[in-house]
Amino acid sequence: MKELFYKSTRNSAIRVTASQAILKGLSDEGGLFIPESIPALGRPIEDFADMTYAQTAYEVMSRFYTDFTEEELKSCINKAYDKKFDTEVIAPLVEADGAYYLELFHGPTIAFKDMALSILPHLMITSARKNNVKNDIVILTATSGDTGKAALAGFAEVEGTKIIVFYPKNGVSAIQERQMVTQKGDNTFVVGIHGNFDDAQTGVKKIFADKEFAKELDEKGYQFSSANSINIGRLIPQVVYYVYAYGIMLKEERIKAGEKINVVVPTGNFGNILAAYLAKHMGVPIDKLICASNHNKVLYDFFRSGEYNRNREFYLTTSPSMDILISSNLERLIYLIAGEDDEKNKELMRLLSETGSYTITDKMKEGLNDFVGGFATEEETAKRIKELYEKTGYVLDTHTAVASYVYEQYVKETGDTKKTVIASTASPFKFGQSVMEAIDGKEHNEDMFELVETLSKTANVSVPGAVSELKSAPVLHNHICEKDGMKDIIKEFLEM
Ligand SMILES: *Cc1c(COP(=O)(O)O)cnc(C)c1O
Repeated sequence: MKELFYKSTRNSAIRVTASQAILKGLSDEGGLFIPESIPALGRPIEDFADMTYAQTAYEVMSRFYTDFTEEELKSCINKAYDKKFDTEVIAPLVEADGAYYLELFHGPTIAFKDMALSILPHLMITSARKNNVKNDIVILTATSGDTGKAALAGFAEVEGTKIIVFYPKNGVSAIQERQMVTQKGDNTFVVGIHGNFDDAQTGVKKIFADKEFAKELDEKGYQFSSANSINIGRLIPQVVYYVYAYGIMLKEERIKAGEKINVVVPTGNFGNILAAYLAKHMGVPIDKLICASNHNKVLYDFFRSGEYNRNREFYLTTSPSMDILISSNLERLIYLIAGEDDEKNKELMRLLSETGSYTITDKMKEGLNDFVGGFATEEETAKRIKELYEKTGYVLDTHTAVASYVYEQYVKETGDTKKTVIASTASPFKFGQSVMEAIDGKEHNEDMFELVETLSKTANVSVPGAVSELKSAPVLHNHICEKDGMKDIIKEFLEM
């Protein structure tokens, strides 16, 4: 197979292999890595009807990660998509009310970040070996809740890695904190900091930039890396499930080979929907990519007007993983629609960081024809959960409900009858309080285990193991530090 290199969105002359891009995460001048061309599927689409998740994953990833051997890649895939998932099919497709929900929440943290974070550690450690990195990789993460646990679960007990997660001590939900502090694995460290998420994030960034500290670490046989969502080690594994979903649709004879489908994605950082865009451009017959936002509708406004503007009020919603004003993965799309013009992209990103906004040219706007933007308010989101439940018995989480509402509106406005896959990004059990309140209109302030029982009866779905286990799981982490004590606690963990 022809080797595929990656270049930076802010300097097209930079050229690295896939494994180097995975190790680095971000390019030195701040750009994101992007493949020099989007590879084709390389097989008739019919072939995917008979493939397992692991087989599909190999087909897709081998097109992008051309410097990995077949053995290396298959080993990473098999270690990732195993019994950690509570269903053998990994990502089931469920029909409800005329749409197809692709359930991406059957992994250890019952949200879609598991799809990529369960394989990233293995890709990273393989990349380290391939590039003769002898150091152990230390993952540093600041989390507002979700990513931290998914990263901990992915890296736990992966040889040659350690992971240190900082979270705001009073800034995550009870269930999120419990998920983190009960994490098993000798290589995992969890610390609550006295401060908010921004303090944790700023602290981590400072430590990443500390050259002196990096030298000290190197002498001890360690180097830092990040599990950030802009890493191509997270982006490419997300392409897999769109190919897989098309395969299931074929197998179940919902569509004929070559028939176009639409895809709806509840969007925050723009990683998941960008993966669907890549799937489309690999050759999966996808027509519209429908980008669903919550009340923080920066992307909706961008698709309408061509102006990206983060200077606006920020809302806390019941779909917190989409409460984002800067969608970092959008930069890759901007680069592509600018005709892979690194200077143009760099200029727009400079405007974004200095003024908070930028406007694309009319020519660039044509590149957005694949996309449709939509949004749902808090009331619309809750209403959609209730309606779908009353009509079909199927219970959505708040994020997926945003997408479901946006899809309904899209059909009303366009009359488009193409079969549609909706990315279902979290289990309703993860956001049980908002979901129950949407369904019965009452307040639900009961204890979290009582709440999941109520939801289980309502949805007629058993409580996922990931939640029920928490009840008896021992607390294994109780470290607390001050904002300026992060470096010291890292040294303590690494015995420096
Ligand atoms: C992260 C997340 C999203 C947003 O995905 P992006 O790739 O950041 O756009 C949506 N829903 C849930 C439940 C998430 O955890």
